[in-house]
Amino acid sequence: MPDFELTRAQDDLRRHTREIRDTQVVPFLERRGMDHALSADELKQLLRMTLPIGYPGAVVAKEDGGAGLDYVSLGIVIEELAPVFGFLAAHVVPRQIAMLGTPEQKRRYLVPLLAVDRLSTTAITEPDVGSDAGAIRMTARRAGDRYVLNGMKTWLTLGNIAETATVLVSTDPAAGSRGLSRIIVDLDHRRLRSSAIGTLGDRLIPFAEVTFEDYEVPVENRLGQEGEGFRLTLRAIQASRASMATHAVGIAQAAVDAAIAYAKQRTQFGRPIGGFQLVQGMLADMIAETEAARLLSYRAWAMMDHGRECSRESSIAKLYATEAAVRVTSKAIQIHGASGVSDRHPVGRYFRDARMLTFPDGTSEVHRLLIGRSALGIDAFR
Ligand SMILES: Cc1cc2nc3c(=O)[nH]c(=O)nc-3n(C[C@H](O)[C@H](O)[C@H](O)COP(=O)(O)OP(=O)(O)OC[C@H]3O[C@@H](n4cnc5c(N)ncnc54)[C@H](O)[C@@H]3O)c2cc1C
Repeated sequence: MPDFELTRAQDDLRRHTREIRDTQVVPFLERRGMDHALSADELKQLLRMTLPIGYPGAVVAKEDGGAGLDYVSLGIVIEELAPVFGFLAAHVVPRQIAMLGTPEQKRRYLVPLLAVDRLSTTAITEPDVGSDAGAIRMTARRAGDRYVLNGMKTWLTLGNIAETATVLVSTDPAAGSRGLSRIIVDLDHRRLRSSAIGTLGDRLIPFAEVTFEDYEVPVENRLGQEGEGFRLTLRAIQASRASMATHAVGIAQAAVDAAIAYAKQRTQFGRPIGGFQLVQGMLADMIAETEAARLLSYRAWAMMDHGRECSRESSIAKLYATEAAVRVTSKAIQIHGASGVSDRHPVGRYFRDARMLTFPDGTSEVHRLLIGRSALGIDAFR
């Protein structure tokens, strides 16, 4: 069982993250508004504010230019930034390249990504390929020392402003999921067609659908061997799932805090609404679910720090925490009455942002099937 006592350094990191969030990130976002997508420049300004706390290179080793922190520390940063700063993607590609890249790939890509000179995204989903990621259709045909990419990717976080992507492609369509490869792609938006996707939540994030037509990439940009793409994607995904879970915890905690403050201050029938047992019941459920989600998330991070395989535990955390955040933020709206659905309180945004989280890095249903498979030894996918 992992030990959940934080070290002094982790406690300090939490304090430092809160300080940067409250004194730099929040004022910046309040000035420009939180209802429309960030430009590349704005996002870079925000990410540079987080460099002193190690983000986005938190768990990248110091010798690769990262902060060399542990996974629990990455979780702390994500949790504290989540209520205002919903773009986890910034740490995903550097982490993947640090984990899977050659020394040359690390040298070329990690330096600008970790300095926030470039923005990055991961490109897996396609218009006809969601949960069944082994069925990728986008092709990368070998032509000498280049791959020629053709196909469409969708739901790319930062899709029309990212400059680097790790893209899952088929290098051998006849081989199905065994013919997939992962390639680092420089995104030259003048040569790509992209269209923005409007969303219920996460409105600071530009999501996009991007079309690649005869788009050339050097063969040396491939991560791992040809045909290893699906396996490598699954290897790197545990931390992404734990990130989603911890992100959900951060939003849920913000909703709990807002609901407590409102329940103390709002009076009806001559007393604070927090004095009504039904309101206390909602709050108690919110707190219990948020704390359970936090323990599950940090269990997964702690297992990563101990070098333990945790696909089951990161699935459980991702499933539980993201669904809990939807319930918790919905109850926070209920406690706020009509104010909860107005634009005067952040709880509506918390709900919208939480509602986005039950899809990426495996939908809730996919995680139920993974957990079921691990318990039963029976595969319900095929
Ligand atoms: C906020 C957000 C960020 C994202 N970021 C990225 C990104 O950066 N890069 C990227 O490539 N993609 C990204 N995605 C896309 C995400 O990975 C997909 O949404 C996800 O893989 C699910 O695919 P889908 O939405 O097409 O749903 P589908 O797979 O079409 O599923 C539709 C419904 O059917 C259910 N379902 C599917 N298969 C089964 C089954 N076997 N049994 C039971 N139910 C099933 C699903 O659970 C879901 O309820 C993002 C999505 C969101 C919402």
